[in-house]
Amino acid sequence: MAYDFDLFVIGAGSGGVRAARFAAGFGAKVAVAESRYLGGTCVNVGCVPKKLLVYGAHVADELEQAAGFGWTLEEGHFDWGTLIANKNREIERLNGIYRNLLVNSGVTLLQGHARMTGANEVEVDGKCYTAEHILIATGGWPQVPDIPGKELAITSNEAFYLKALPRRVLVVGGGYIAVEFAGIFQGLGAATTLLYRGDLFLRGFDGSVRTHLKEELEKRGLDLQFNADIQRIDKLEDGSLKATLKDGRELLADCVFYATGRRPMLDNLGLENTGVELDARGFIRVDEQYQTTAPSILAIGDVIGRVQLTPVALAEGMAVARRLFKPEQYRPVDYQNIPTAVFSQPPIGTVGLTEEQALDAGHKVQVFESRFRAMKLTLTDIQEKTLMKLVVDAETDKVLGCHMVGPDAGEIIQGLGIALKAGATKQQFDETIGVHPTAAEEFVTMRTVTR
Ligand code: FAD
Ligand code: NDP
Repeated sequence: MAYDFDLFVIGAGSGGVRAARFAAGFGAKVAVAESRYLGGTCVNVGCVPKKLLVYGAHVADELEQAAGFGWTLEEGHFDWGTLIANKNREIERLNGIYRNLLVNSGVTLLQGHARMTGANEVEVDGKCYTAEHILIATGGWPQVPDIPGKELAITSNEAFYLKALPRRVLVVGGGYIAVEFAGIFQGLGAATTLLYRGDLFLRGFDGSVRTHLKEELEKRGLDLQFNADIQRIDKLEDGSLKATLKDGRELLADCVFYATGRRPMLDNLGLENTGVELDARGFIRVDEQYQTTAPSILAIGDVIGRVQLTPVALAEGMAVARRLFKPEQYRPVDYQNIPTAVFSQPPIGTVGLTEEQALDAGHKVQVFESRFRAMKLTLTDIQEKTLMKLVVDAETDKVLGCHMVGPDAGEIIQGLGIALKAGATKQQFDETIGVHPTAAEEFVTMRTVTR
């Protein structure tokens, strides 16, 4: 049967655009449908605008440090409207770049909501298209627990478009987004409280990293409240929000920001017409090669709920394009040792196993840990400490994990990701000449076993 397209991609986000462009480059006839914004979550309401706001908040640190370097500054004034307008302009520029990338690679771009009407059929705005393969790359959507007053809360989607910086913010959650936005709001001047339901935020990260970040955030005056959760939210006559906690306490705020995880975006996607099944957590079930339970349909990225990071969606998109249209170049995605950063203030960078994971996996573990005040701070009154940690297999000498909390942690951890992928040993770390004077050199000069 002749199809309209070899590949029909639903969603022009990180994974969808990568798969579409490369498939078209390999000679396939490709369409992409996008209902909302080109570039998806990452470009519009994720990584990119988030990082721009993080940079904005970080300026406050630079201003605080300036006096130590001899600079006298008049009292600074921050204008949220300018930051958001400039951010929006940059996002529009990126939307245009994504459009050109797709169109110039010969991909047919369809603007509108896509719904599958069969295993080889997609409908966009009342028009039906057939395709030999369909790729679901529809990403995720913020999930807010069903509490009374939840409609008064916002999520990251709305935070990027707030008209003004709220004076008092309650951030709910203890994952990447909660920690990053708590830093943004606080850095820009809002009185910020982070509420997390468990004992310590960032579950799954290395224990030393979690404790260290907690201490540093508290030094900065962020109000961290653990074992705390909101039962209901009410709007008061003066417009403020009252959050009643499960323990009965009442907190007042101008904004309640929920970052309690993301669900797969499956709304009106027509899964019922296709034989595509979900896994136990409600994400699309796929095999090793991203094939769903319907043989003509594949799925990648946040909608399969493996690792919700842009570079992972990109790698999965590339793997699908190769598998379908350039099988001789196909290589499976390696989910081991994925480096990642949390752009908190100070940021976290991490790759490989945490100390806890290494012990659980049965490794005999040697830990090298260093805490120090960065050189840049020595001329200031700021007492912030940087943490660096290596988790090493005592029997093979292989470095199993590298973890950092401190300035530029994301930039530093990227290179260490290559070292871990290459299977580097502690001895090879030790034999690597440091770059002096940097903070990063600490990773190759830690000699004393801490544990
Ligand atoms: P998405 O990028 O979400 O793209 C899905 C696209 O599909 C969307 O454009 C959507 O409009 C479209 N779509 C959905 N349904 C349909 C339909 N039926 N028809 C047509 N189109 C449809 N990751 C990092 O690596 N680093 C970061 O710093 C980082 N920061 C983040 C910050 C925030 C606030 C958030 C929310 C996420 C962040 N992420 C970060 C995660 C990252 O954004 C995602 O992992 C990534 O965007 C997933 O890509 P994707 O292709 O699966 O989906
Ligand atoms: P996460 O899954 O990272 O964290 C969700 C947090 O919300 C956890 O602390 C969780 O607690 C808590 N939580 C979940 N449900 C409830 C509930 N009902 N009530 C109270 N608390 C709850 O999700 P995020 O929304 O922060 O981010 C989604 C994903 O996006 C991340 O996992 C990450 O993959 C990606 N991302 C990546 C970034 C980066 O690379 N820098 C930045 C931002 C997002 P518990 O731990 O107890 O379950």
